[in-house]
Amino acid sequence: MDIIVIGAGVIGLTSAIRLSEAGHRVRVHAQAPAAATTSAVAAAVWYPYQAFPQDAVNRWAAVTYAELVRLADDPRAGIVQRSGIELYRGAPPDPWWRDAVPDFRHASGSELPPGYAGGYAFSAPVVEMPRYLPYLEARLAAAGGAMTLVSYAALDQALADADVVINCAGLGARGFGDHDLVAIRGQIVRVAQIGLDRFIFDEDHPDGVTYIVPRISDIILGGTAQHGAESLAVDAMTADAIIRRCCALEPRLRGATVLEHRVGLRPGRHTVRLEAAAHPRGRLIHNYGHGGAGVTLAWGCADDVAALVMRSSA
Ligand SMILES: Cc1cc2nc3c(=O)[nH]c(=O)nc-3n(C[C@H](O)[C@H](O)[C@H](O)COP(=O)(O)OP(=O)(O)OC[C@H]3O[C@@H](n4cnc5c(N)ncnc54)[C@H](O)[C@@H]3O)c2cc1C
Repeated sequence: MDIIVIGAGVIGLTSAIRLSEAGHRVRVHAQAPAAATTSAVAAAVWYPYQAFPQDAVNRWAAVTYAELVRLADDPRAGIVQRSGIELYRGAPPDPWWRDAVPDFRHASGSELPPGYAGGYAFSAPVVEMPRYLPYLEARLAAAGGAMTLVSYAALDQALADADVVINCAGLGARGFGDHDLVAIRGQIVRVAQIGLDRFIFDEDHPDGVTYIVPRISDIILGGTAQHGAESLAVDAMTADAIIRRCCALEPRLRGATVLEHRVGLRPGRHTVRLEAAAHPRGRLIHNYGHGGAGVTLAWGCADDVAALVMRSSA
């Protein structure tokens, strides 16, 4: 089949790889290259954050967890398996995603910093996006996939030029008429590695979502999750507050060299939209709206896209 994938973020590239490696002729058409997408800003730790519905997300997340663990064996992919903790001020129930994580357990009291009453201890793949996205691009090229900068005003244009179109435009799908998408603004600080190897999350911090994600060559400090906010400008006061909260959780971060400030807009939606859609101009499959979990869900979603393409050709 001749397939156009719209979007060169983690969702588009992963879908394109699955389809190319299955033998289809795949062209990725995107307004912005991978390095300039929201995906390039992601922390990116495996964690099903702000993505729905839970049952499908659980399934996609479990598939992706296994795939990322497998890819961590390839140094070109920029993935490392890390242990860490998610902190709570009360005693949390089991999370809905616990079965997706092989070594999930509740943290013991001695593992909790002062002020916290409970937590989850688990391991998860941590993905360094400035390495991972070029790895995905190279893997796509090796499978025969092509990548071109194209900006679509409407899906009809792409449908006229391919057997099947896969819409992986993230927040850009608003331009194709989806008014259910909402930006969830995320600001982060990238600091130099200082020898940290454990992630720490405090999603319910009273001053804002707080996380420390040590990647291979740097550490991401977060963050924000501002629904409906669309400014890509770095806010200096927000950055200071992120650094303060993260240093309180991990005092060794005091004095770590700040490398960069970044802002990205997560593609928030009440549910991920992954389905074949009837379109008068041709065959169309949507795969967007992954909220704060695009990296966490990409391989599971790509498998479903490949299955839908197979079904549409039968
Ligand atoms: C601060 C921050 C931290 C995050 N941390 C994590 C994390 O730890 N783990 C995790 O799993 N996720 C994380 N995320 C979420 C993750 O980044 C997103 O879910 C993911 O990037 C969505 O990928 P995508 O490919 O759908 O969209 P994008 O990366 O936005 O890519 C969309 C693509 O579509 C193209 N496009 C859009 N409109 C058009 C058009 N009209 N024509 C042609 N092309 C078009 C764009 O140019 C782009 O290439 C984080 C996000 C942020 C902002």
